[in-house]
Amino acid sequence: MEIETIKKEIERLRTQLRRADYRYYIESDPEISDKEYDELMRRLQDLEKKCPQFIRPDSPTQRVSGGTLEGFPTVRHKVKMLSLDNTYSVEEIQEWENKIKKMLPKNALLDYCVELKVDGVSCSLIYENGTLTIAATRGDGQVGEDVTANIKTIKSVPLSLIAKTAPVALEVRGEIYMEKKELELINQMRVRSGEPAFANPRNATSGSLKLLDPALVAARNLKYFIHSFGWIQGTQFQNHTEFLAQAKALGLRTNPHNKHCKSLTEAIEYCLFWQNKRDTLGYEIDGMVIKVNDYRLRDTLGTTLKSPRWAIAYKFPAHQTTTQVKKVEFQVGRTGIITPVALLEPVECGGVTISHSTLHNFDEIERLDVRIGDTVLIERAGEVIPKIVKVITSKRKGNEKKIKVPDTCPECTEKILKEKEEEVYWYCINPDCPARLKQSLLHFASRGAMDIEGMGDSIVEELVTRRMVKGIVDIYALKKEKLLILPFFAEKKAGNLITAIEASKQRPLGRLLYGLGIRHIGEKTAMTLAQHYKTIDRLLHVSEQDLQNISEIGPVMAQSAVKFFASAHVREMIEELKAKGLTLTQESKPIKKSPITGKIFIFTGELTGFSRTTAQSMVEALGGKWVSAISKNIDFVVIGANPGSKYDKARALGLKIISEEEFKKLIKE
Ligand code: AMP
Ligand code: ZN
Repeated sequence: MEIETIKKEIERLRTQLRRADYRYYIESDPEISDKEYDELMRRLQDLEKKCPQFIRPDSPTQRVSGGTLEGFPTVRHKVKMLSLDNTYSVEEIQEWENKIKKMLPKNALLDYCVELKVDGVSCSLIYENGTLTIAATRGDGQVGEDVTANIKTIKSVPLSLIAKTAPVALEVRGEIYMEKKELELINQMRVRSGEPAFANPRNATSGSLKLLDPALVAARNLKYFIHSFGWIQGTQFQNHTEFLAQAKALGLRTNPHNKHCKSLTEAIEYCLFWQNKRDTLGYEIDGMVIKVNDYRLRDTLGTTLKSPRWAIAYKFPAHQTTTQVKKVEFQVGRTGIITPVALLEPVECGGVTISHSTLHNFDEIERLDVRIGDTVLIERAGEVIPKIVKVITSKRKGNEKKIKVPDTCPECTEKILKEKEEEVYWYCINPDCPARLKQSLLHFASRGAMDIEGMGDSIVEELVTRRMVKGIVDIYALKKEKLLILPFFAEKKAGNLITAIEASKQRPLGRLLYGLGIRHIGEKTAMTLAQHYKTIDRLLHVSEQDLQNISEIGPVMAQSAVKFFASAHVREMIEELKAKGLTLTQESKPIKKSPITGKIFIFTGELTGFSRTTAQSMVEALGGKWVSAISKNIDFVVIGANPGSKYDKARALGLKIISEEEFKKLIKE
């Protein structure tokens, strides 16, 4: 094909794909089948591979562009991103209108736009000449984080606007959120791999946006509604309904339940309507937003430091219900902390089935005076995990049992202690407590840390009970033959786990630091430390003062990190990890650009030229990724002899299938 023809074809494919995205993700009314879509996408990918000079950041192929991020740069918002004032009753809404009426001319015609308050994370999108250039979080309102690469993976965020009517440049604002059923799935997965469940969709969304690997963000299936703008160049609007209609015409996703209300009475009625109906939505809303529609009136009203005067949030009351406490269990965490958990008679609360609730600590038990057998009032304020509000003492029969602090650790039967008398938490201080070890291993292997696929609850349980693993280092001494003696472990599963363990040695320092579970050092701080010091040896010698010179790190974190690295036990462990060949540095290896960069591979069947592990690490070395579960997102399915069921699934999905020979050619290119 001639170069000009290719260019035209590329443009044509992009237009078709954008239209398909719009119909599917914005209008929910697809025009073409998934198969047709995938074919168009593959043709476009092929052509762009042939002529990389035509790749543009807003091409539909660029949603996940491979590689991981090194943290997020900051973005200063040109127009401050404000918060909203809250009201909790109809009277308060009425008072708000009375107040603003006093600030407006007598004859002002007040009408409203009433919107759902989706429980997610606020985000700003800048489009220049129709193309998405920057996506940023709200941050403190003035300065947010640049999360463009992550936002681009969200299919309901168009990479380019339907250009004909697009303003020169504009910054729109909206809410990134996660649907209830998606959150449920992710929480199930997290619990299985030993990570804490997200308490609510907002935390899940903000946690997802902070992931440093856009491919992981893509898998979270986030969504986006736009509800406002920061600034617009080249166009003006009279009122909010007009803006929303125009935004929709530009291809931006607006909420179909936005409603123009001619009076406050109508607005209040609409708020109460959704208060009753909120469980019917696929996502959580924590209230409604009433906004003055007319932009001139908005200008007159202005804003306070914190929030606009022309809008108000009406917050719904929390979901509440009563149920019975059946039992209290004590869970031992990674640091030895003991958390009492109430097992409840399962009950439905705001569209979610509730069967347990954390009691946090023993002071909380005392404060509530909750006993086994008690009927309790529970509350779920947008949270998946509810809290116990109070005991319904009138329901007591007299046979309820008081909850006592256990004398010993429920897992290892060693003594438990409080660190200081005024502390509220009890700890198991036995460093060899199997419960602590299990939690540490699960944390070490979790996605954000060393990401050892297949090292979940049941396997860790076996490894610890059989004393095959007594500490983190032992993971790297596991042999396939040993794993085969575990129940349910066949050749393939054992092989996969060993491969995953092997691959985890390549994780950069930041992920390891996070995985080590240093007290007070979360994922983000671990990354900061790694980026600052680059190697673990430097970290072994830092002082509290050094650390506190880093703006993000406070005295508590600094003290905890220094104490950790000073421990002889920790130093010995680090030496052993070094000997096992772990990376322990942050410098990402320079990656040679190749046809593999950014592509996703899956292997099935026996390869002859090299082992699967080698093939997988070659893909990684060239900036590609490999996965072990089949999905639509895979670019290449490499088949060896006697391929498994993945081969049939790949064919059914119409994925690109290549032989070992073709794979060899690809890696040489
Ligand atoms: P709050 O976080 O309680 O101060 O509430 C303010 C936040 O509500 C904003 O920053 C938005 O992220 C969010 N929000 C959700 N839906 C809307 C909406 N329709 N209009 C404006 N803000 C909204
Ligand atoms: Zn213990």
